[in-house]
Amino acid sequence: MKYLDEYRDPAMAHDLIERIKDLSASINRKTRFMEVCGSHTVAIYKAGIKSLFPNLDLISGPGCPVCVTSSRDIDQIIRLAELPGIIVATFGDMIRVPGTTSSLQDEISRGAKVSVVYSPLDALEIARENQAKKVVFLAVGFETTAPTIAATILQAEREGVRNFSILSYHKLIPPAMKALLAEDEVRIDGFLCPGHVSAIIGSTPYEFIPKEYHIPAVIAGFEPLDILQALFMLLMQIKENRPAVEIQYSRVVRPEGNPGAMKKLWQVFQPADATWRGLGVIPESGLVLRQEFAHYDASLQFDLSVEERADPPGCQCGQVLKGLQRPTDCPLFGRVCNPQQPIGPCMVSSEGSCAAAYKYGRS
Ligand code: SF4
Repeated sequence: MKYLDEYRDPAMAHDLIERIKDLSASINRKTRFMEVCGSHTVAIYKAGIKSLFPNLDLISGPGCPVCVTSSRDIDQIIRLAELPGIIVATFGDMIRVPGTTSSLQDEISRGAKVSVVYSPLDALEIARENQAKKVVFLAVGFETTAPTIAATILQAEREGVRNFSILSYHKLIPPAMKALLAEDEVRIDGFLCPGHVSAIIGSTPYEFIPKEYHIPAVIAGFEPLDILQALFMLLMQIKENRPAVEIQYSRVVRPEGNPGAMKKLWQVFQPADATWRGLGVIPESGLVLRQEFAHYDASLQFDLSVEERADPPGCQCGQVLKGLQRPTDCPLFGRVCNPQQPIGPCMVSSEGSCAAAYKYGRS
């Protein structure tokens, strides 16, 4: 599949749907696949794929970077925004994410300086233009965004910009998948692996899935036909009992990923334990700046200590992110929690499971 029309060919879609139905019916049990990418979550809801296959249970995992950022980390961001002389630069999705007492949006109304940017380089530009202020970029994202932030740090270092720093809440996807598989209560028969992340890291980091857990993994693209083809590939692996990592999204993803991007990432960052909403602390699942770039680490420059507080009462985001509950299982879904008045992050981000279920999954 190379050209856009081919991903939307109704005849090919019908053929794949029938073949998936036949294959899943022949497997004698309900098969449960998890996607760990917010773009897949949205694509699956938008195309109505969940409702097509009675023998398939398609569940969403921790694939939205905003959603997996813990309440404590959001509270630290709020604390940062309250400090004088600070400009917080962030991607737009973070603005409305509620912490335990406030959100960046609330802080803007109280006078905090927050700039929405489309790239970390925009944040660096704000720092150049505001020498009397300290500009802190909120580095929230997976392996996809980390190389561009690493490149921005290298650029700041080359230019000697010292009023720029980042708060690194980066997360790494393979350790989270491993943590999910290690949990007794989570049952997964196969992974739909993220296309964007895999374009950077390649397919090798997923090899532990078939080797240690004997389940299949397929790296998928984002058109409905990509996803259908990936589901078919997962089912074929189960049927033929040959778990492996396969690449459906071969027009973008190479087994070796993007070595240039990975080199930049590891030049600037090193792995560190990170706290995921719903999953807790996962060893080596985050990124911190290496010692030689520590002067760009906002967590070392500012006092961001916050009290430990509970997540919003009733919010099931943690369970949703582990695939143990669907968004519609949450008693607050659509009643008091909606995209206009979100209670948890899964309803805020456009890639959140609850937002996708609210927008596309209710009919
Ligand atoms: S519906 Fe709202 S409160 Fe419930 S899990 Fe989703 S984001 Fe949290």
